[in-house]
Amino acid sequence: MGGTFDPIHHGHLVAASEVAHRFGLGRVIFTPTGQPWHKQRTATAGEDRYLMTVIATAADTRFEVSRVDIDREGPTYTVDTLRDLQGAFETAHPGESAEWFFITGADALSEIVGWHDPDGIVDRAHLVGVTRPGHHLADPGLPDGVVTLIEIPALAISSSDIRTRVAAGEPVDYLVPEGVARWIRKRRLYAKAER
Ligand code: NAP
Repeated sequence: MGGTFDPIHHGHLVAASEVAHRFGLGRVIFTPTGQPWHKQRTATAGEDRYLMTVIATAADTRFEVSRVDIDREGPTYTVDTLRDLQGAFETAHPGESAEWFFITGADALSEIVGWHDPDGIVDRAHLVGVTRPGHHLADPGLPDGVVTLIEIPALAISSSDIRTRVAAGEPVDYLVPEGVARWIRKRRLYAKAER
């Protein structure tokens, strides 16, 4: 499951759980992006986003967090994310096979044809785009059968709304796991309004 996770919130966790249930996934590996090159806004330091993702997912045995995108130099390309995860799997489980899915926000996925090596991504994983209620499920223009779009009601929660709330001194309790809310306070993240 790829995302900037700035910060991770309960919508992401519900989406991961729902997709795991629908597809019978044994594991969901969260991959916080490196410094996002394609955004106007400067994202929070990768280490903070990584640690918040670890805190948020720690209690669920299906969930893991990978540093592949945080540790790789340069822009985060999903084809590299998948290549690194699949390479690590082959090393750890020689001779075994696995079915791979790349889960992310449907808004992000709708741009995939402009991403680096979209054919390589599609060759490596089935795509799952999750979206918030009321948002149009944009067709990413890919051939039939390579992408599944799923509406997740809990994705009414958004990272940008959480950042705005923190900057305004409003509570984020129950929007993010308690440990994440504490990390935001401890590190004084999002104190300045920036969407
Ligand atoms: P984003 O622009 O930060 O997010 C776009 C929308 O999707 C937002 O509404 C966001 O909501 C939602 N979203 C993002 N990740 C989500 C997730 N895991 N679950 C549910 N909703 C999610 O998107 P991004 O984080 O930069 O990119 C998403 C993924 O696509 C990352 O893994 C990134 O590396 C990859 N990507 C790859 C390329 C490439 O290969 N060239 C280009 C762009 C993106 P929230 O803000 O609430 O999360």
